[in-house]
Amino acid sequence: MPSDLVIVYHRQPYEEVEVDGKIEFRENKSPNGIVPTLKSFFGHVEKGAWIAWKEAEDPSNPDFERVIEISDHYGDYTVSRLPLTADQVSSFYHVTSKEAFWPILHSFKEKYNYDPVDWPTFREVNWAFAEAAAAEAAEGAVVWIHDYNLWLVPGYLRQLRPDVRISFFHHTPFPAPDIFNVLPWRKEIVESLLACDVVGFHIPRYSANFVQVARSLFDVDVAKREKVPDELIFDGTALVERSVPTQISYGDRQILVSACPVGVDVDFISQRAEEAETLEKTKAIRAELGDAKLILSVGRTDYTKGGIEQLLAFERLLERRPDLRGKVRLMHVSVSANRNMTAYEAIQGEIEQIVGRINGRFGSLEWQPIALISTAVPFRELVGYYRAADVAWITPLADGMNIVAKEFVATRTDEDGVLVLSEFAGAAVEMSAAVVTNPFSHRSMDTTIDMALDMEREDKRGRMRALRETLRKYDIKAWADEQHRLFEAARHVSRVSSDVRPAA
Ligand code: UDP
Repeated sequence: MPSDLVIVYHRQPYEEVEVDGKIEFRENKSPNGIVPTLKSFFGHVEKGAWIAWKEAEDPSNPDFERVIEISDHYGDYTVSRLPLTADQVSSFYHVTSKEAFWPILHSFKEKYNYDPVDWPTFREVNWAFAEAAAAEAAEGAVVWIHDYNLWLVPGYLRQLRPDVRISFFHHTPFPAPDIFNVLPWRKEIVESLLACDVVGFHIPRYSANFVQVARSLFDVDVAKREKVPDELIFDGTALVERSVPTQISYGDRQILVSACPVGVDVDFISQRAEEAETLEKTKAIRAELGDAKLILSVGRTDYTKGGIEQLLAFERLLERRPDLRGKVRLMHVSVSANRNMTAYEAIQGEIEQIVGRINGRFGSLEWQPIALISTAVPFRELVGYYRAADVAWITPLADGMNIVAKEFVATRTDEDGVLVLSEFAGAAVEMSAAVVTNPFSHRSMDTTIDMALDMEREDKRGRMRALRETLRKYDIKAWADEQHRLFEAARHVSRVSSDVRPAA
């Protein structure tokens, strides 16, 4: 049976576990990631489909079923697994997406590595995703494509299936033309995105950048511009826009351009935070800390996350304020998601070296200033640390959204704790009660961490209350509702131009 909603996301929507020689499909361990939210969309349609890849030694004869039927509490849906060789995965994902696209998306031109990109493989893999989506979609279905590693899918899919509604969501930032146009494949990528009915981003700045990029490359006009809601204007901070294009025209097509920040499930996380198990864990953490304050930093090991700059700021803090020695600890969680990639291994090495130096310079047998954690902390435990922290120190140099900042606020039903947040995280535009910092400035990093550590209880409470209010307004349900609204709105924007023919 064809599907009314086809989700195209590179990862499978569950974990495959082998039990007694049989494969079992289990819910992803992280209950609050984006995958459960995407799966919840299947509850609104008669039949859904999900397209992902799975590694196979011989893709023409994979040792797994290509299409499987899943029936769980989200609904009934098929999962189409594209067999890709390890080389294809490495080329399309680790090289093209992570070494070429990722640095450009985050405006790190100097990290960009063009030479190893094998563009024909990127096209081939994207074509396979488009074909699989075309095979599953019912007449007029919504095909919802996620993230930059699938940038060419909309264009191919439009050729194969002019009838479907195509929505594309970016989970990353989107840079201005001066940066984006470094990519030699810029026209091909943007032309593919212009085959969508909806192109979505987290915040207005990214959608404004996309429209500027499109206008730099094609005859694209702004058909509609709207004022940004006040709640998404943290006055004076780096990523704020005051008005934004929400519809563009290209040839005889209209494309909706949306900005809606992904949020978290506030009730779910708040409940977790108040469970006896969490409170006990929090108590144990606090008991171990004694009268020391806990600064918590959580992120992936990635140059975009600003881990090195943060550690150096912590070193300056201990130099500047001898009164804090023995009285503050930094828990720096830096999890490597991309092992075997030289760029990430180098950062991990540098982080370890700086932490070693700081602990050596200032530490004693009784007190280690920094606890460096390099393996993922399970969410259940993380909640305990969020709840125990005096300060969440979230200082990326560039970040599409930053869910950690939102999770921290969601756990603080006690209205305590201070969020120090980089103005270069997408989340900053809506979190105007955070202590905002600029990780490129020593002075800004230094004054804001001082301010956070010294903040009075009343000030903390007022800020946390305000943060929790906006968190609720832009929670995960609000995001999901907006995506539904856009799928419907896509019915009314004009459809594909008649001169597009299916590929020969
Ligand atoms: N996370 C986790 N354990 C860790 C570190 C991170 O479960 O040790 C989770 C965290 O709870 C959050 C996600 O990983 O849900 C990170 O999302 P974010 O948007 O902050 O960063 P990204 O890695 O997507 O850039």
